Amino acid sequence: MATIVEPTIFELSSPGRRGVTMPASDVPETALPPKPLLRSDLPLPELAEVDVVRHYTRLSKFNYSVDDGFYPLGSCTMKYNPKINEDTCRLPGFLFTHPLQPIETVQGNLALMFEMQEWLKEISGFAGVTLQPAAGAHGEFTGVLMMAAYHKSRGDSKRTKMLIPDAAHGTNPASVGMLGFTVVTSPSDSRGNVDLKALEAACDDTVVGMMLTNPNTLGMFDEHIEDVIKLVHGCGGLMYGDGANLNALLGIVRPGDLGFDVMHFNLHKTFSVPHGGGGPGSGPVGVGPVLADFLPAPLVGIIEEGDEDEMAPLYGFVTPKQSIGRMKAFHGHFGGGLVRAYTYIAMHGPDGLKDIAQYAVLNANYLQAKLRDTYKIPYDRICMHEFVAEGRFEGSDVRALDISKRLMDYGFHPPTNYFPLIVPEALMIEPTETENKDTLDAFADALVKIAEESKSQPELLHNAPITTRFGRMDEVKAARELVLCCWLPEGYDLNA
Ligand SMILES: *Cc1c(COP(=O)(O)O)cnc(C)c1O
Repeated sequence: MATIVEPTIFELSSPGRRGVTMPASDVPETALPPKPLLRSDLPLPELAEVDVVRHYTRLSKFNYSVDDGFYPLGSCTMKYNPKINEDTCRLPGFLFTHPLQPIETVQGNLALMFEMQEWLKEISGFAGVTLQPAAGAHGEFTGVLMMAAYHKSRGDSKRTKMLIPDAAHGTNPASVGMLGFTVVTSPSDSRGNVDLKALEAACDDTVVGMMLTNPNTLGMFDEHIEDVIKLVHGCGGLMYGDGANLNALLGIVRPGDLGFDVMHFNLHKTFSVPHGGGGPGSGPVGVGPVLADFLPAPLVGIIEEGDEDEMAPLYGFVTPKQSIGRMKAFHGHFGGGLVRAYTYIAMHGPDGLKDIAQYAVLNANYLQAKLRDTYKIPYDRICMHEFVAEGRFEGSDVRALDISKRLMDYGFHPPTNYFPLIVPEALMIEPTETENKDTLDAFADALVKIAEESKSQPELLHNAPITTRFGRMDEVKAARELVLCCWLPEGYDLNA
């Protein structure tokens, strides 16, 4: 297949073309800074407005998104993002406020943040919530910092080990490593639960706690979750819940009620904030009573009660007693994250949130049932919001990667590949609640067809995709001859 090379914005540049009209200066001219501080040859592209619009619009059409089609990227929860979220987050009162404004002038924004804290507490069963963290991994880091502060406040300095299951998301060990703690891998049993015997053996007085995703990345709800939590608490550790994907639990199970001490939410997964280029992320953290005093500051609180008839309460900022301090400039991702997620929760209400969980679980189980005879499901029991299949067939050299690339020819975004690591050739499929039966059927049909092609035309799968604008990338070359820099004009030396 011929490779079509798209010109970059720099290659489209032509000296003298302009996309802007600069107004005449209305301030006096001053001398330029000293010579060493000046760059004379900054290679900015020169184009007319129409060239720029056409370039980026054309590129956007080569892209794939949830607004184009089905996007079953497991663990990422690529649900459809309702467009009303875009209207509300652009309301002038939200859009044109500054975080340094006096609180009297931003009471509406503070009320929204206060209510968001309250709603997340109610949804999760926690005692307190911070909205500061910028994403899931940042939430994890925040949560583990609080766990460390808790142990330190008790004069308990022996604890350095964090237990993390082998199915965990990579950000878990990364967050723990950033605090200098040691990761101890906790194995899964044959049903995809935490192996209780191994956990019992690892639990001692050097354990900071455990970070557990439940349902885990296999889509399995741990059948012994209460025993797991009891064991960790029994040795003085705290229980961290990775709540990036709360889709299966909304309105049904509250992690705080189960006994988790701390958990982050990914508003950009469960609560329909766009992600994967559409950001920003938002990773609020909820805590149980033992950690409530350690929450980052400031939180939004009521600093003057209102009265029932006329006076609204006055919202402002409060600092928990033993706060770990600030985790983010200002107050988290307000418009892009909090307002969108707030809208989503408000539009659904408690019953709607429960529907989300039930349809997400139903859709995943429907697909799992349709694919079970064609693809091996290594942990084959009722799944939650996602499930993991093996992308390989007996006597065939077709791999998960080939299957995923071929799915693109059928017009679908591939599932997550090669994660979790405990399933060989993993295809991790999360349909979400926003897909209808026709879409799920078409996706299952494509996967069954691909399984047939793996026997009749394996070369087709090895070379896929063949209908997309760009064909199969050379992964080895991409890794060995990595080019991280953008295109530069001829003769331009970045280091000069
Ligand atoms: C996405 C995800 C994370 C990390 O969230 P980011 O916002 O990408 O930092 C952590 N754990 C699980 C299970 C996830 O799916």
